[in-house]
Amino acid sequence: MDDCIFCKIANGEIPSDFVYQDDEVAVFKDVNPQAPVHLLVIPKKHVKSAAEVSDPAVFSALVGRAVEVARKLGLDKDGYRMVINTGEQGGQTVPHLHLHLLAGRNLGWPPG
Ligand code: AMP
Repeated sequence: MDDCIFCKIANGEIPSDFVYQDDEVAVFKDVNPQAPVHLLVIPKKHVKSAAEVSDPAVFSALVGRAVEVARKLGLDKDGYRMVINTGEQGGQTVPHLHLHLLAGRNLGWPPG
């Protein structure tokens, strides 16, 4: 997608602070972190939101990589949260599927 900010990050057009990437998935630091660790895990292939995904392997790739990255960073010791905001009422502001990986403080529940 030409005007998608996360596609531009994935293809290197916009610089970002990458933590991990492979052919399918990129993981980079959120520009406006809501916790001491706040990473975004995205599929490199554009899909607007979780609601638009037809192949469940997309979720497997996102969650699988998020768990691997969390393990590598030692976040599994104290715990972390994975969130996929979906659509307007779900709080999604960037229309390219992304999983938030948050850690480093006690995270409140329920969310706002
Ligand atoms: P959401 O509100 O769930 O759609 O999350 C979008 C997230 O993308 C927010 O947490 C933003 O801070 C983050 N974000 C927006 N632009 C960038 C960027 N250029 N680099 C890194 N994170 C970004």
